[in-house]
Amino acid sequence: MIGDSDHVAAGPAWRCPTDGDPWPCPPFRALPATEQVARLLTVYAHQAVRDLRHAADPVEPTDTVRRFLGDLSDADAKRVALRLLRTRQPIADPPPTYPHRPMRPLWRCSACRLPWPCEPARRGLLAAYPGRRDALLRHLVSLKVEAQTTLTRLGSPPTPAQLDERFVAWARAHDPAES
Ligand SMILES: [Zn+2]
Ligand SMILES: [Zn+2]
Repeated sequence: MIGDSDHVAAGPAWRCPTDGDPWPCPPFRALPATEQVARLLTVYAHQAVRDLRHAADPVEPTDTVRRFLGDLSDADAKRVALRLLRTRQPIADPPPTYPHRPMRPLWRCSACRLPWPCEPARRGLLAAYPGRRDALLRHLVSLKVEAQTTLTRLGSPPTPAQLDERFVAWARAHDPAES
């Protein structure tokens, strides 16, 4: 399962967490070119063209497209870059008050690599919405819907009950007086 690989990167730096190489690193490229790998590269390219364009050392979107999606002609790389830049971004992440961020589209934690939201992420989410559980639940439901869509596209969807348990039920059950 690709989500268990040590060579899956996250933004905004897009470097492999294991070898530190610009991602996709050589060990990731060596994975069998399954449909899942191709989809992951496409989804990540979507995020990376923006991240790297605004990095301290900016990268041209066409160069990012080539890096993620292969050796395209100038015209093709330009066309793909424009399409990626015009397509709407995924839903914004919660406020960056904690390092345990969701890595899309696998929905694993960027820090501990467990299915997101991991325990530290849950504590961070509760802290980000003090006394505003309705707002937190709305936010979690929107993330759940997004995760369901992307995990289904990747071909390994958890059941709706599992997703509800993982994304929403823990916050619904949480006693606000404890936070
Ligand atoms: Zn690597
Ligand atoms: Zn975590």
